[in-house]
Amino acid sequence: MIRKIVKIDKEKCDGCGLCVPSCAEGAIRIVDGKAELAADNLCDGLGACLGDCPQDAITIIEREADEFDEEAVHQHLAGNAHAAAPEAHAPHKSHAEAHHGGCPGSRAMSLKPAAPAPDAGEGAPQPSQLGQWPVQLHLVPPTAPYFQNADLLIAADCVPFAYADFHRDLLAGKAVVIGCPKLDDNDFYTKKLTELFRVSSIKSITVVRMEVPCCGGIVAAARQALAACGKEIPFKEVRVSINGEILG
Ligand code: SF4
Ligand code: SF4
Repeated sequence: MIRKIVKIDKEKCDGCGLCVPSCAEGAIRIVDGKAELAADNLCDGLGACLGDCPQDAITIIEREADEFDEEAVHQHLAGNAHAAAPEAHAPHKSHAEAHHGGCPGSRAMSLKPAAPAPDAGEGAPQPSQLGQWPVQLHLVPPTAPYFQNADLLIAADCVPFAYADFHRDLLAGKAVVIGCPKLDDNDFYTKKLTELFRVSSIKSITVVRMEVPCCGGIVAAARQALAACGKEIPFKEVRVSINGEILG
């Protein structure tokens, strides 16, 4: 049948993921850093996602498409919910969630870091404390299960290079997003963080930045997002010096 349906311009789409939670049918997913329609019959063609796209990448067109199918939507949403809570079924396995298919490099997954080894001898290897993938603010889906009830670390890109014990002292036990406010679009960061704070039950926010003034942009983006999300979440800023010390 010819009917109205969403069209996503992949040239314009930067994969921010803001459209994903705005679609109650779960019809949009991020694959390889771009939004796409999961299936024609999941899209009702009403365009609830349109206003959430900062790139104007989403339009409604008329084309030949399968009919909208509410039963298929229910099954699809039930499948996503199952994928979002896999710990109950496979407590010790890493798992892919939410966005299936495409390059594993941009597929959301939770990891199970081993506990840091405080008594290991000097020079002993320490386990990574990373509990998720991906980490780039551009790539993380705001609805990813690893953000639920999480203490969130927002780290400027340079911090892990400057601060040697980043994993042990800052990352352990937290979900993380990273970005550079100097090289990237800080308005985008504000919008993405607002959505992340809005749709996820974040317990606390720690922003760790470099001491250089330009790095303050990531703190400003996080503060603006917190003010815009309509929630009260404990917030802390940590500054790291160029020679690798925590300045408070
Ligand atoms: S909201 Fe973001 S992910 Fe969705 S279509 Fe627009 S740019 Fe792409
Ligand atoms: S703003 Fe400067 S210090 Fe901060 S992450 Fe970007 S390049 Fe590094």
